[in-house]
Amino acid sequence: MRRDDVPLRDYNLLRMNIEKARELGFCFGVRRALKIIENATEGDIKIVTLGPIVHNKTVVARLKSLGVRVADNVDELKGGVTAISSHGVSPAVYEKIQLRGAKVIDTTCPIVRSAQKAAQRLAKAGFGVIIFGEASHPEVRGLLGWAGENAIASMNVDTITDEIVLKRIGILAQTTQSRGEFTAFVNRLTEKLLPHVQEIRIINTLCQETQKRQSAAEELAETSGLMIVIGGHNSANTRRLAEVCSPLVETHHIENADEIDAEWLHGKKKIGITAGASTPDEAIDQVIQRIESLYRV
Ligand code: SF4
Repeated sequence: MRRDDVPLRDYNLLRMNIEKARELGFCFGVRRALKIIENATEGDIKIVTLGPIVHNKTVVARLKSLGVRVADNVDELKGGVTAISSHGVSPAVYEKIQLRGAKVIDTTCPIVRSAQKAAQRLAKAGFGVIIFGEASHPEVRGLLGWAGENAIASMNVDTITDEIVLKRIGILAQTTQSRGEFTAFVNRLTEKLLPHVQEIRIINTLCQETQKRQSAAEELAETSGLMIVIGGHNSANTRRLAEVCSPLVETHHIENADEIDAEWLHGKKKIGITAGASTPDEAIDQVIQRIESLYRV
């Protein structure tokens, strides 16, 4: 079709390019968790998940349609079958679930499980454990439980006081943190601790799936006029994608296509799309369709 033949309403689309990051959306840990739950529902078993199985409302709604209910805390459980999310839980929570007579389906991501084991090994060997992560995030709450009494979680070196500092310190990260920020944290913390401790052990617990998504998002942001980051507003790995992109280009974090404001698209030639590890393909497709429809009006 020659340019002159293009209907007016499609004309802007010719000048606009939508590109998806080369790595985006569901990670293997989330796919695995969903498969475990979906397989279990085939046996007509009523499953209650402790917290949302992943931080995405669309996914939680789909599971609800299969009869999977969400309990906000252990006290709401009344026997039956309880599923632990991909974020994992502390040993104390695991024990509490069993004490309430519930059978457990554990979908903890193997990468989170490795981080839990690393925290446990450090605690058993007498290390104080410092976790680079958001203390309120479910994965970090679980990790703290595995890391024993001398453990804290922090995103800010200044908040780490002498009380935690034993002679031997282990440092690890919430799996979905960015490599750059963890490196900066470790450097500052090492500088602060070295005069007081005998040993500092750093365990790289970062998830490579997350790192790949962050690098791909950063690369795309460098050549785009706008980045749309899709995923739950309470999804830590999605927020991190937005943080990686926003210093480079105008970036908006949305959970679904309805949140797109047509104003954002004005004058943008290339729109980059990325999505968090718990964002289903349908949500990504809906966003692309909505952007295309807004260009056509
Ligand atoms: S982002 Fe990484 S750690 Fe988290 S569930 Fe996915 S694979 Fe596992």
